[in-house]
Amino acid sequence: MSTPQWTGAADGRAIALRVVRERGAIDAPAAERAVADLLRALGKDPAEPHLADTPRRVADAYAELLTGRQFDLTTFPNDEGYNELVLATGLPVQSLCEHHLLPFSGVAHIGYLPDDRILGLSKLARVLELFARDLQVQERLTQQVADWLQEHLAPRGVGVVIEAEHLCMSLRGVRAPGARTITSALHGLLRDDGRSRQEFFALAGTGSR
Ligand code: ZN
Repeated sequence: MSTPQWTGAADGRAIALRVVRERGAIDAPAAERAVADLLRALGKDPAEPHLADTPRRVADAYAELLTGRQFDLTTFPNDEGYNELVLATGLPVQSLCEHHLLPFSGVAHIGYLPDDRILGLSKLARVLELFARDLQVQERLTQQVADWLQEHLAPRGVGVVIEAEHLCMSLRGVRAPGARTITSALHGLLRDDGRSRQEFFALAGTGSR
């Protein structure tokens, strides 16, 4: 899970939280050997010239897709007492389905009702990426982002909606290209107050297309 460390306040008012998510180290040579084994198991010869670099490329690609970047989560005092919804829509999300190791991708809409502190807006995308760069299921990814924001920003409410297309659904199995899966996770007033919840879903644009 994430290991937050409080770092020095930039100007005495902003507070930066260093966000590092620790997980098992990636053994690149072992991953390359495993990809070569997989190719052989699939009836391909990894020694063929056009496949010679494939194990390394695949291992590199997975390492990149499974490694989140650390970042500083800067929060600021809510001096203006802004108490309406803050919403970032259409944030790109790319992740890997843990059932098939195939990508799923789409957009996320993340909103919160501020309390004492507000957040640099670009940081919502970084929190999303932190959890997306992992083997995931969409439901858990959605919940993890909402839980993390609730815990570290302590707003009056948090809402996360993810709409994504899963290659394991569009390329194989039911073969439903274009089908999107929508998941949501809510905390606080966005869960418990009907009007706030409605406003969030209306502004997030879900259900309207
Ligand atoms: Zn899948």
